[in-house]
Amino acid sequence: MRTSIALIACCFVIATANAADPPSSSEHGGSKPIASIRPNAPGSSGAASSSSASSSASAASSGPMGKGRAPVLSQREREDQAEAELSAKIAARLTIMRANQAARIAQQARAKKAAAIIAATPPPPPPPRHGTHWAYEGEDGPANWNKVNVDWARCGSGSRQSPIDIRDGMKVDLEQITFDYHPSSFSVTDNGHTVQVQVGGGNFITVQNRMYELTEFHFHRPSEERINGRGYEMVAHLVHRDGEGHLAVLALLMERGKPQSAVQTVWNNLPLEKFDTAAPSIVLDPNDLLPQRRDYFTFMGSMTTPPCDEGVLWLVMKEPIQASPAQMALFSRLYPYNARPVQPSSGRIIKESN
Ligand SMILES: [Zn+2]
Repeated sequence: MRTSIALIACCFVIATANAADPPSSSEHGGSKPIASIRPNAPGSSGAASSSSASSSASAASSGPMGKGRAPVLSQREREDQAEAELSAKIAARLTIMRANQAARIAQQARAKKAAAIIAATPPPPPPPRHGTHWAYEGEDGPANWNKVNVDWARCGSGSRQSPIDIRDGMKVDLEQITFDYHPSSFSVTDNGHTVQVQVGGGNFITVQNRMYELTEFHFHRPSEERINGRGYEMVAHLVHRDGEGHLAVLALLMERGKPQSAVQTVWNNLPLEKFDTAAPSIVLDPNDLLPQRRDYFTFMGSMTTPPCDEGVLWLVMKEPIQASPAQMALFSRLYPYNARPVQPSSGRIIKESN
């Protein structure tokens, strides 16, 4: 472009110069006046005159051209050239500015597109939680157990959760629970949630033609179960398991009264530190825990601690057992509150002994 502008400017200058040439003026003549001078020069003095004519022609040809016409053309040329150079500079500058603007627009478009993609992309799901810490109060309390660990979802969504407020039982001729308990070795653990007693093998109950073996018992304060809205100061849960892994939990409601010998044996052997286990060399007879009367409520429910597995057969003895105020007070020093709130019954069937 620059070349073409320069070319056009150059042609313009030549054309202008030719048009302005007078035909026979030595002042403005080009090659033609010089040529016309040479043949017509009078040659009286031979070489000298020839030389003089030549020099005069030379002076006429170069002198006036250098001093007269050339500065005018050079001026124009310079002006045209300056104009051409300015135009070229402006064009080049415009080209750069347009290129920069195009780059800015492209960059803005790319940024806008990237922002649109980010806005359209849904946030990644939170990673699944596999927490193990749960409590009876605060952030990891019963209302949030299902959020602590993905495997504890039924703590929040189950329809057969425990404990419940036992009401409207169907009074029927329930078969008696057969107890086959014996004095057994045991160990006591303070597991951070309760005092738990592991019991040696060979202690069975039979109910609904199914045999379950006692594995452990533990305590809650206050009682988790309620009967017609009434709670008790404590409850003991005796956990049994059959050969297929089904659970049956016998609940013994506890009220203030006489000292309880089996409870005292457990308290006597409490470990000194949390999460420790004490394994005394004496025996404990689970029969000593049982009330006189063996009437009971029964219904299906769940474990009352995470992971809240359902399919648990619950057997709640109607007659509470007693423990002394001192025995109650001792447990309350360790666990003043370790009970899950009652859960919806959700229309489940409750049977009770007539
Ligand atoms: Zn329990």
